[in-house]
Amino acid sequence: MATKRKVAGIYQPPPHHMVGDGFRVHGYFNVIPDAHEKLSPFLLLDYGPEYNFPATTNTRRGVGPHPHRGFETVTIAFAGSVAHHDSAGHGGTIGPGDVQWMTAGGGILHREYHAPEYARKGGPFQMAQIWVNLPAKHKLAKPGYQGITADQIGVAKLPGGEVRVIAGEYAGAKGPAKTFTPINMYDVRLNKHGRAEFSFPAQENAAILIMKGSVSVNGKKAVMHDFVLFENEGAEIALEAGEDAQFLVLNGEPINEPVAAYGPFVMNTSREIQQAFDDYRSGKFGHLED
Ligand code: MN
Repeated sequence: MATKRKVAGIYQPPPHHMVGDGFRVHGYFNVIPDAHEKLSPFLLLDYGPEYNFPATTNTRRGVGPHPHRGFETVTIAFAGSVAHHDSAGHGGTIGPGDVQWMTAGGGILHREYHAPEYARKGGPFQMAQIWVNLPAKHKLAKPGYQGITADQIGVAKLPGGEVRVIAGEYAGAKGPAKTFTPINMYDVRLNKHGRAEFSFPAQENAAILIMKGSVSVNGKKAVMHDFVLFENEGAEIALEAGEDAQFLVLNGEPINEPVAAYGPFVMNTSREIQQAFDDYRSGKFGHLED
């Protein structure tokens, strides 16, 4: 019999900060000691709970052109609409239930902003951005973009809810995202008293962000906006919703390599970070109009 995963900690969100003028987020990993180790391959989680942005004529509300190298950015829209375009020529707009999975790889410039049709009307906006590290051998991969629409996402029905599989697999439902290392990423909804069970090998990292409602997690209570981190001990995770709940499950095989992170670049050594700045400044990341 596999044993229960031990909960390492339940963290409340740190104060929010703005990313550009369009993303009001809580940077959860900033408050977790040794996050790079305990959450690898995930590097960052910026979560923006539902917030009402006013109507605007500014069709650029968000973040202007900026570079990334060495990892992937995953943006999940829950309410409102996010647009993206990048120096590799990719672009897209995502709405509720959709996901953008962008591989910065060897280097990219991109803009992230409120889709103009949403910005003009304003209203509820809720999103998450997760940074996923790449192993050294893929850090300079060709930039890529996966625009994943809600209808492509695998759904596993539970008696009291459902698991939307963005990446990986759950109960036969498959996630459409192509990943460089093994990852499970689920968007889970449970009705009051609904239950879900997950099993992740002890050597893999796992965490759950509670977005709505409250759940008991292996007997420990977690409420809206709590982030539950698991130890690398045991496998089984049993959840039961105390009220209608929604949560994001992150699980992945850790990349056991050094992490050198500076601003928009995540490499293995400080020398590679310096190289990223040099390459960015000399125009090797391509060009993107503001
Ligand atoms: Mn970005």
